[in-house]
Amino acid sequence: MKTLMIDMDDVITTGNFNKLIEEYFNIKIDMSKITNYFYIQEIVEKDYEGFWNYVKDKNLYEGAPLFKDCYEVLEKLNKKYDIYIVTSYLWRHAVDVSGSCLSNKYYYLKEMLPFIDQTKYIFTTNKNIMKFDIKIDDRYVNLEGAEKKILFNNWHNKNEVYDDVIRVNNWKEIEEILL
Ligand SMILES: [Mg+2]
Repeated sequence: MKTLMIDMDDVITTGNFNKLIEEYFNIKIDMSKITNYFYIQEIVEKDYEGFWNYVKDKNLYEGAPLFKDCYEVLEKLNKKYDIYIVTSYLWRHAVDVSGSCLSNKYYYLKEMLPFIDQTKYIFTTNKNIMKFDIKIDDRYVNLEGAEKKILFNNWHNKNEVYDDVIRVNNWKEIEEILL
């Protein structure tokens, strides 16, 4: 069985992070105009402490939907591949409250994708040190160490050019490639 790494944020779900930024700063984020991955940082910097104080007790995943077709395709992939969900939980700018983020991620995955064994969750920020046959992620740096690299298209990677990735827009395209 081939090993398959699947990223959580912006591949399985987007969570509620942008919603919380919009709420706290009373703004509307237009994702189509954003190309910089660190845009969150730039907005948050306007009231760094206040914002993290606001977010730290919130569950970023409460009620967040899975991406379209994610459940069905993952269920099929799970029969053919040795799947690991690999996701970062450290909030670099609020490291001390990352424990609750890890807990929220764990329970979200368990509830939303019950057919994936919980021992197959890996919580780490350093995905690039891990080797898998196939990796699916929305950040190129995390695809390092894979024979087959599948880049999940997103606003922050749309202008990047790579010659060793397969780009996908959705889970149906992943199904076509891997099944
Ligand atoms: Mg991601």
